[in-house]
Amino acid sequence: MSTPRPIAFFDMKAQQALIRDQIEAGIARILDHGRFIQGPEVDQLEAQLAAFCGAGHAVGVSSGTDAIQIALMAEGIGPGDAVFLPAFTYTATAEVPLLLGATPVFVDVDPRSFNIDLADLERRIALVQQEGRLKPRAVIAVDLYGLPVDWPALNAIAERHGLFTLDDAAQAFGGALQGKRLGRWAHATACSFYPTKTLGCYGDGGALVTEDAGRAELYRSLRTHGEGKTRYEVLRTGMNGRLDSIQAAILLAKLPLLEGELQARAQAAQWYEAALGNRVQTPQQYPGAESAWGIYTILLPDEAARARVQAAMQQAGVPSAIYYPKPLHLQPAYRAAHAGSIAGGPPPLPVAEDLCTRCLSLPMHPYLTQADVARVAEAVMKHL
Ligand SMILES: *Cc1c(COP(=O)(O)O)cnc(C)c1O
Repeated sequence: MSTPRPIAFFDMKAQQALIRDQIEAGIARILDHGRFIQGPEVDQLEAQLAAFCGAGHAVGVSSGTDAIQIALMAEGIGPGDAVFLPAFTYTATAEVPLLLGATPVFVDVDPRSFNIDLADLERRIALVQQEGRLKPRAVIAVDLYGLPVDWPALNAIAERHGLFTLDDAAQAFGGALQGKRLGRWAHATACSFYPTKTLGCYGDGGALVTEDAGRAELYRSLRTHGEGKTRYEVLRTGMNGRLDSIQAAILLAKLPLLEGELQARAQAAQWYEAALGNRVQTPQQYPGAESAWGIYTILLPDEAARARVQAAMQQAGVPSAIYYPKPLHLQPAYRAAHAGSIAGGPPPLPVAEDLCTRCLSLPMHPYLTQADVARVAEAVMKHL
């Protein structure tokens, strides 16, 4: 029997083969013009990103994490401020408020969508208000695995409490809600172009998307050390948070593929659903939401079943991953901040803790074939 073709967890090679010439030509142009930082490719990319999202402004920055940081710095968020965010997400979402001296308040997640639980958000806002020690300032909601948050409902809560809303769309670039792409649903949207994201460069990169011209101008200043209209006028404390020209050129070559790639991801998700939907909990899709399918995550009955399935997959030569094995409030780096965020100890976060024991992510990328998906599904079901 011949060995079956290897299945990648994320596949960046198949895509690269399609656009290798454009990428090399784009890099060559930059070697010639020599504007490695803030070159014309960055301006061009920003215009195309804004157009893709249907949004007013896109500002290229050095990573998704720096996008979050610049967005919070622009609001002046710091000591004494409470920033609400889900406990079940990547560490970057929580690290930034702490770096700025603010207090992260971890919120539980919904067991079906894996996104921030809005009832729990309201409960924690009320607790912080009652205590009166911290000022509720912002909510960072994550479109986890690519599925848009229920933004209309979240925005209603945020408006009632005067909170700044930041969409951490690092896993969801290209996702949409009610036909409107992410990028227009929050005051600002943080995007990551880390290589494995739905739109990825070949290094670190990110962007902030916003409808607000004033915010976009602030973001441009903050990413360049707080500079003013002229280069050596420093208006505010900023950072070195620029996107470089070579990464912008790579993204310019990739962006024309994205629409088709998003459709291919949705197709792969449908194949998974058909193969696995009766056996395990597959990702929820709710009316009006179009996931970007950045990561495909199933839920198994318990931790032992997950270990069995992972072992069977490994034996079959099929990669898998656990996003995430530990909720942020239990991470050594964040435990103390969590404990101190609400007097007497914050309420428990049972859903986030439970999901960490049972979630399993399967290969997901636009170049999966139906046969690949069938092989993954077979390995998943073997010892279920
Ligand atoms: C990847 C990711 C980030 C950080 O993006 P970087 O570009 O790696 O800094 C932030 N939040 C979430 C949810 C992510 O998945």
